[in-house]
This record gives sequence, C-alpha cells and structure tokens, in this order.
Amino acid sequence: MLALGTKRSVIREIFEYGKKRKSEIGADNVFDFSLGNPSVPAPAEVNEALCRLISSTPAEVLHGYTSAQGDARVRGAIAEYINNTHGVCESADKIFLTVGAAASLTVSLNALLNQGEEVMALVPFFPEYRVFVEKAGGRLVTVNYREEDFQPDIAHFEASITPRTRAVIVNSPNNPTGAVLTEETIKEIARILTEKSREYGEDIYIISDEPYRELVYDKESYVPYIPKCYGNTIVSYSFSKSLSLPGERIGYILVPAACNNADKIYGAVCGSARALGFVCAPSLFQYLIPEVIGKTSDISIYKKNRDILYGALTSYGYKAVKPDGAFYLFVKAPFGNAKELCERAKKHELLLVPGDDFGCPEYVRISYCVSTDQIERSLGAFKNLIDEYEA
Ligand code: PLP
Repeated sequence: MLALGTKRSVIREIFEYGKKRKSEIGADNVFDFSLGNPSVPAPAEVNEALCRLISSTPAEVLHGYTSAQGDARVRGAIAEYINNTHGVCESADKIFLTVGAAASLTVSLNALLNQGEEVMALVPFFPEYRVFVEKAGGRLVTVNYREEDFQPDIAHFEASITPRTRAVIVNSPNNPTGAVLTEETIKEIARILTEKSREYGEDIYIISDEPYRELVYDKESYVPYIPKCYGNTIVSYSFSKSLSLPGERIGYILVPAACNNADKIYGAVCGSARALGFVCAPSLFQYLIPEVIGKTSDISIYKKNRDILYGALTSYGYKAVKPDGAFYLFVKAPFGNAKELCERAKKHELLLVPGDDFGCPEYVRISYCVSTDQIERSLGAFKNLIDEYEA
C-alpha cells in the first residue's frame, strides 16, 4: 500500500510537470493533453435539478443515508432507462449504486474472485485495472490487440484462457484508443467464453467497464449492450464522463437478469461493497440521477476536437486509428519509442502520456477533452515535433 500510495503514476508526473511549467510560462503556452478530465460542462439540467432538489427536499433526507445499495426509486429509474434503451428487462433489485467506475470495478472484482484467479484485460487497458485486480487477490493476464483497428487478437484471447480465468474486463469505448468493440468481436468473445466455461465447469464473467458508453461520434458507431450477447456480464457504469461529473463520484453496478445465479452474484456485490466500505453512494447525486438520466454534456465538442486533431496529425505524418468514441487519440510514436516522443514533445510544450502503463510502449495517448482553442493553437507544435524526426 505504501508503494502504491507513494509511487506517482506517469500521468500524475506529467500533470505535476504541467502545473510547474504553466506557472513559469503561462497556462496558455502549455498544451496539456495529459488528463481525462471532461472539459465540457455538465448539461444545464444538472444544476437546475440540483437547485430543485435542494429547495424541495428536507435536508435530513437529501443528506441522509440511503440503503446500502442505493435509494430504491433511483435504482428503479436506472433500470427503467436501461430497459427502454436496450429492450431488456433488468431489475432495480440488481443495481448497486457506487462512487464511480473505479468503485464499480473494485467491488465487482472482489465479488467474483477467489485468491490467485486470473482476470484478462484487452491491451491497451486502463492502468488501474492492474491495481484493482491485484488488490482483489487476482492476477492480470493481458491479451494482444490488432494494430489496424485495436480490436482484440481473438486467437490470442482464446489461447490465454486457463482453468483459473474468472473474468475478462472489456472497456468500450476504450481509454486510451477510443475504439468501440464491434458486435462481431463481442459475439466471438461470448462464443469462446461459453465454450471455455463449459469445458472448465466454472462460469467466466465479462466485466463491462463502460464510463464512455454515450461518447460516440458517428451514426454508424454503436456500442452493443453486452449482456444481450453474453449473460454472465457485470455492467460497471459511471456518470463521470457522460454528465461531466467525475468529482461527484456516482455510478452503478448492474447484475443482468441473464446472469447465472444473479441473486448470488448480486449478494456477493453487496458483500464486497460492505467489506470495501463502499455502501451508500452520495445521496444528493443519487437523487439527481432520475432527473437527468439519458442526458449528456455537449459531446459535439469532443467530436469537433477529434476531427480537427485526427485530420491534422495524420496529414503531418502521425500514424493513428481514427477513434470512434471516448476522448482519446492513441498515436504511434516514430520508431516505436513513446517515452522519447513524450520527452521531445515537452520541448514544444506539448504534454502527452506514454502508452507503457496501458500495455503499449510504442504509443502515446493524447486526451482531447480540452478546449478546441487549445487544440487549434497546438497544431503547429505537433507539426514541428514530427518534422524534427524527418530532419
Ligand atoms: N475505467 C476507465 C476506462 C476510465 O477511463 C476511468 C477514468 O478515467 C475509470 C474507469 C474510472 O472512472 P471514475 O472516475 O468514474 O471512477
């Protein structure tokens, strides 16, 4: 724990460097693309609903404890929204409100894992998965990707499953690539997991980490509802990105009706949340959810940022796959050396994150959840940076 608490993540290092640099040369002169902190404000309905709630709800209710798994009416509203959106029949009694996706993941992992079991992550993956899996007593096993579209290498996925595999974490739209898993990929994963569960006589679960579900930019991009393809799925959701509320810490876990032994799995989720101290998510933000569910912040701004950045960078010679969603662009470093690219970028006041901790040391992540103005002003620096390699 001491090592985890004292060793700064690479992203934090860059963020701290950025703060120092901004104080030296002025914030406008530093192009900080390091963090995934939404730059678009929460929709107006959020503040309106909060004002209504504060003026109309008795304080002892508004700020009081709810039941451990969250207020029943709030869980009902979430279940109704999911059912109307995906044409399913999920139950409020299988929803557990959490303090964001990080808690949804740790609670789900601790609910499912026995000591020493394996959890697969599809590379590239959110670096905290390793921390969460290891703390739950598991071992992280990584699965290779296809470079042309960042879908998983299905043959490697199948070959990596062992009798100790208990879960697979999937994250679509993805941090750091912005790739959306296709329905075809999900069906292949589902087919293989069904076969392997039968062969080993134990259920293998998908944990669907989907804080970016609504952040997709093209009509043809569609984020499938995974439990329809594979019942043994635990949905781990957060409102951090869709509503631009990352600091308020609100999300949920859903154990779908199609999950085998759903009552027991949900019971284990409740037990895990109890053991980890994650009971009763913040009441005010629980009560907000029924008022705003289905709304998002203005994601057209992220789409505009993506189009400007992807168009310009690829025209300068950078290699990248166009992201379908989330707010990240994953760029291949010249000569495959991301750390070197990030160091050189600093000389142009560009702050980028090397892909090492995501399992991809040849790539850098650019978070484009920044102002469009920052993107436009940074383009010259990106051009100069790649031109240096050609000089
Ligand atoms: N999962 C992924 C893929 C993320 O990118 C993040 C945050 O950036 C999280 C989980 C954690 O989200 P939250 O802030 O809701 O805990």
